[in-house]
Amino acid sequence: MSTAARVHDLNPPEDRAREPFDVARIRAEFPVLQECIYGKPLVYLDNAATTQKPRAVIDAIVGFYTHENANIHRGVHYLSEQATMAYEGSRNRVREFLGAGESAEIVFTRGPTESVNLVANAWGRRHLKPGDEVVITGLEHHSNIVPWQMACAATGAVLKVVPITDEGEVRLDDFAATLSDRTRFVALSHMSNALGTINPVKEMTALAHERGAGVLLDGAQSVAHLDVDVVDLDCEFFALSAHKIYGPTGTGILYGKRDWLERMDPYQGGGDMIETVTFEHTTYAALPHRFEAGTPNISGAIGLTRAIDFVDRVGIKAIARHEDGLLAYATEVVSAIPGVRLVGTAPRKGAIVSFVLEGVHPHDIGTLLDLEGVAIRVGHHCAQPVMDRFGLPATARASFAVYNTRDEVDILVAGLEKVRKVFS
Ligand code: PMP
Repeated sequence: MSTAARVHDLNPPEDRAREPFDVARIRAEFPVLQECIYGKPLVYLDNAATTQKPRAVIDAIVGFYTHENANIHRGVHYLSEQATMAYEGSRNRVREFLGAGESAEIVFTRGPTESVNLVANAWGRRHLKPGDEVVITGLEHHSNIVPWQMACAATGAVLKVVPITDEGEVRLDDFAATLSDRTRFVALSHMSNALGTINPVKEMTALAHERGAGVLLDGAQSVAHLDVDVVDLDCEFFALSAHKIYGPTGTGILYGKRDWLERMDPYQGGGDMIETVTFEHTTYAALPHRFEAGTPNISGAIGLTRAIDFVDRVGIKAIARHEDGLLAYATEVVSAIPGVRLVGTAPRKGAIVSFVLEGVHPHDIGTLLDLEGVAIRVGHHCAQPVMDRFGLPATARASFAVYNTRDEVDILVAGLEKVRKVFS
């Protein structure tokens, strides 16, 4: 990731000591944040599910369909060449953002779900053997569990799960103890969407490599909050989602080391992933196109470029500092509400506060807060094993982004106080 571009430039120098940037100016870039819900200003605290989109991302998508729309790669006409340049330019922008060595290692997918399925199918089903072990953690999103269960069922490999502590952490010694000489692959969440825990993935990757295993990092939650450099992390694969980093839905990325991608079969067959086709035999396109069958989400890739530009302009370190401040404040004031219990209290966390309120079902919390204009997520967060670990059916989850404020945390707390009164 280019650090030079990561310098925030939004505040005059005297303000920088107080706030990493001017949040009001950032908020003005997000049209939806000006909306009212039931007559109340929207307080959007469901960012771990999806972030809102800045005007630049929306304009880029509208601009593509207004001025440039054409299919890519196959056309010789002007618009097709423009669209191809924009799409491949986006691939290069993602490469730079992730610190990857070459664009051939950046595969466009529909999202992290498809990225993990791609690896579990194209690598897992080809290389896993009966008795091999695949290691995941107790923190994973369903999209980093189910594809591995399916690959293990198809190959006879065994799925091993590293337990999590009462704080919602994966301890390195528990991780090391789960690895064995039979471990062929490790799939880890970088940051938990249910609890916010940030895993020490660099150390975990090094431990997995000592056993000769490959590593996939699920970066769905982390890229919007942490400075990610895939070469420094040394992971074999990294999955991310455009829509959780201020970009559009339906677009994601799989980064893969070239030598690993080269040892994988294509995941899907069709147009654009071939070199030659006869009824007898097909040869496949070079990386990364062999993993991108069919017409991709072209406007999604273009929107992702603008989202990365936005993050780089504000600066990922400044974003992290702002969100860490919100997390510390929200943790303090939400946990001070009588009857609230935080779920997930790891020392290293992203800006997610998961909690339960005694005597109130999380769905009731979500419904009543909605009437106050406050959007949070309630449920199992596609992480049912995490809920099982804590003996809960669901939690309420407030998750923060670059545009959230302390005032919004106060509105959340006032809403929770109302909920408490209704149910007392
Ligand atoms: N992993 C994590 C940690 C997530 O938070 C999510 C989305 N909630 C996913 C994977 C799946 O992302 P998507 O639905 O965009 O494929």
